[in-house]
Amino acid sequence: MKSDSVAMVALPSKTHKQETVCIFGTGDFGISLGLRLLQSGYNVVYGSRDPKNSKLLPKGSKVMTHAEAAHEAQVIFVAVQREHYGFLSSLASDLDGKVLVDISNNLRSGMYTESNAEYMSTLVPAATVVKAFNTISAWALQSGGLDANRQVLVCGDRADAKQLVVDIAQALGFSALDKGSLKAASELEDLPLQLFPLWRLPLHIAIGLTAFIFFYVLIRDVIYEGVTNGKDISFRIMISMANKAFPIVALVMLALCYLPGALAGFLQIYNGTKYRRFPDWLDRWMLCRKQLGLLALAFAFLHVLYTLVIPIRYYVVYRRNVYVISLVKDNITYEFDKTAAWRYDSYFSMGILGFVLFVLLGITSFPSVSNSLNWREFRFVQSKLGYITLLLCTLHTFLYGWNKFLKPHVYKWWMPPAYMLSLVVPCVVLILKLILITPCVDNKVTRIRQGWERRSKTSQKTSQPLMA
Ligand code: NAP
Repeated sequence: MKSDSVAMVALPSKTHKQETVCIFGTGDFGISLGLRLLQSGYNVVYGSRDPKNSKLLPKGSKVMTHAEAAHEAQVIFVAVQREHYGFLSSLASDLDGKVLVDISNNLRSGMYTESNAEYMSTLVPAATVVKAFNTISAWALQSGGLDANRQVLVCGDRADAKQLVVDIAQALGFSALDKGSLKAASELEDLPLQLFPLWRLPLHIAIGLTAFIFFYVLIRDVIYEGVTNGKDISFRIMISMANKAFPIVALVMLALCYLPGALAGFLQIYNGTKYRRFPDWLDRWMLCRKQLGLLALAFAFLHVLYTLVIPIRYYVVYRRNVYVISLVKDNITYEFDKTAAWRYDSYFSMGILGFVLFVLLGITSFPSVSNSLNWREFRFVQSKLGYITLLLCTLHTFLYGWNKFLKPHVYKWWMPPAYMLSLVVPCVVLILKLILITPCVDNKVTRIRQGWERRSKTSQKTSQPLMA
């Protein structure tokens, strides 16, 4: 049955119409911000060094000198580069009691000893400085924040001043996140300078691993064949070798997503508490698991695409034709091998199922999807289905190797085939997980994660008299 209730729409508690906001600076950011403020119902006043010659300003805004503009509004956005902040000290009396919003960024990290916002605060001590909007680009302001980052990070020493800026950010369609006092400004100023910070480690791992596997396969397959049999099979570099490297990188990186979680479980058992910090390297590793997983998925996609073209490769078509013709010429018929049929079907089946679950993991890691899941659903997909994916992909690789593991001729120059190497990390992760889910270990980890702590002998000794 349909509900009769009418959907309630949350309305802003107050209207922003007629509120005036001042912007110092008529450059790219100032213009974009002014336009957006006007569209959201604010009056906009620009403070400029040369009001008469300021052109291209949004229709409906006013432009005047800095001192005149400052008197028109309580909140003043300073859309000027830090190098030019000197003019603010000459306006000290006009800016008394005002909220100055510092939106500036620097070209490099560590250019100045104090943050731009703290510097502004020293120039105009009678004003309250709030750092905000520096992570939003002029383009994002113009495009309405729909496609770009929607979050405005705010910091400052006075809650009421921050609230005024938060109200403006929300009225412009952004969400606001309070990052604390003005001391956090240098951290906010560093954010736009970072280039994919969480992707750096996963990218290095992916590139390093791909290069290692590629050269390993090159030596073991191509160079070995040339040296020992005098055959040139270098044409295999383009597809065969690439299709050996990509699935290996995908599998190892998928395992690397789950290894830190398993290590963390053992570390918590060892420490007997969840309240001790993990080592920095483990923290960093845990933070970039999503990126590791997405890169692994990209490599898995490459493996699928490279596998799909195998039947139409010239080399494969040629070999197949030669083989069939030789069978016909020699009048040979091979018996149907049921074991081989089971092996190949199982191998493909594990691969397909593993890949589908892998894609599902990737989809659920996107914020738009993960936001619609509750914590339990998210954990179920990312942890339980994740381990099942790892298990299926590992089985897929075992079935690929089949009985070759025990055959000495596959160890060319004492080097095992690359897929055997790829099984090491996933097997370690699966064994660790197996230990962690055995009831006695699982109970212990669960208790620790619920806050239980093992008390050391020394702390027991010291605490006994107190308890008595
Ligand atoms: P811009 O295009 O170079 O404009 C800066 C404005 O500052 C000028 O139009 C000028 O306005 C004023 N100005 C220049 N020299 C001055 C001086 N000596 N004294 C006083 N005012 C002076 O810069 P922008 O791209 O708009 O960036 C402004 C600030 O926003 C910077 O701190 C930047 O880091 C920050 N920001 C920009 C973006 C972005 O996407 N552009 C994103 C985040 C943060 P008048 O001629 O009218 O005085």
